[in-house]
Amino acid sequence: MSSRPHPLDPMLAQATLPFVVLDGAGVLLALNPAAARLYGRPAEALVGLPFVQVVDPFSREKAALMIAEALTQGAAHDWELYHPRTGAPPLLVSYTAWRWRPDPAARFAVAAIGQPLTAAVSLAAQLAATNQQLEGALLQLERAHAELKNAQTQLVRSEKLRAMGQLVAGVAHELNTPLGFVAGNLEFLAEQVPALAAASPDPHLADDLAAALAESREGLERIAGIVRDLRSFARPDSPTVHAADLNASLAATARIARTLCPPGVTIVEHYGPLPAVVCAPGQINQVVLNLLTNAIQAIPESGTVTISTAQEGDQAVITIVDTGVGMDEATLARLGEPFFTTRPVGAGIGLGIAVSMGIVERHGGRLEFASAPGKGTTARLSLPLT
Ligand code: ADP
Ligand code: MG
Repeated sequence: MSSRPHPLDPMLAQATLPFVVLDGAGVLLALNPAAARLYGRPAEALVGLPFVQVVDPFSREKAALMIAEALTQGAAHDWELYHPRTGAPPLLVSYTAWRWRPDPAARFAVAAIGQPLTAAVSLAAQLAATNQQLEGALLQLERAHAELKNAQTQLVRSEKLRAMGQLVAGVAHELNTPLGFVAGNLEFLAEQVPALAAASPDPHLADDLAAALAESREGLERIAGIVRDLRSFARPDSPTVHAADLNASLAATARIARTLCPPGVTIVEHYGPLPAVVCAPGQINQVVLNLLTNAIQAIPESGTVTISTAQEGDQAVITIVDTGVGMDEATLARLGEPFFTTRPVGAGIGLGIAVSMGIVERHGGRLEFASAPGKGTTARLSLPLT
């Protein structure tokens, strides 16, 4: 048998690191007191046992591989094996093993020296824990950064809006004065028409003048509408707020919108039961009219605009759905940007939604859009009931 006891060098016997000698089959031939202490049994009880039996079952295969590597390669470095301990978690020991032959006639044996890893491992565990804390802190930092950026964007946006508001208020004011006297002159001219027509030999003059005047009035009304939009964008009037029957005022707004509808467009109304909503009804009507106008304009030839109301929890919700051309992502993203319009010059000034969003914000409500090209648009306006 190869597993006969082997005398240990006294120097190794005194070493504080575990040292073992195994035969070619991995059976313990000798071990120093430090190894016996580590394995939890006296050296006499251990000699003759396969080395794999003093390691944790979890490490047995690894131990056998280490021995094989030492025998075939000459040395095996840094093999980490667990040893079971009574009343304590298994201890991790890093072994370096090498092939060794006591004398040329003897068979190859294996010697191995171990380094318990308690301190190093606990340090690694501590490091891992610290690392996790750091990662957590990093995540928080990233979140805070994103919030800051968002807040900054809003700040810049509101700064821009303020500057734009001042500019727009100035323009609206300048337009309002000439608008007033042009309207006045137009009425004066209208009064002169009968006398002018009577004094003229042209039998068509009265009709022609009346048509021209009607056209001018319509033009003036459009200008007045734009000026009104500009002013309410720039400096919203402090409106009268009271508890209002939204369904009734929406029905009135829908009647006005119908007069704007081309023949192919139908407005459908579905009013659900709503409690009185404390709001500035005139302003809410303006929002709804803006939304209805956009919906009607989005329908190329024929289609439907559906306006409905419902109570959802503590919110009054007004929904306007159209079967129009819809909007792509880029348009949706720019909705509410003052002066953003996709309409040709003269057809829209891009304030409808900007004005509406301002009004809804001041009411503590929300205005949201869902749309896709060719799929129509849903505008959802919610107002708090309390
Ligand atoms: P304007 O109507 O003067 O263009 P708005 O602020 O009312 O300004 O609308 C901005 C833009 O949003 C419109 O030019 C249009 O491209 C788009 N839009 C708004 N509502 C709709 C809708 N219901 N369907 C399709 N596009 C819409
Ligand atoms: Mg519009």
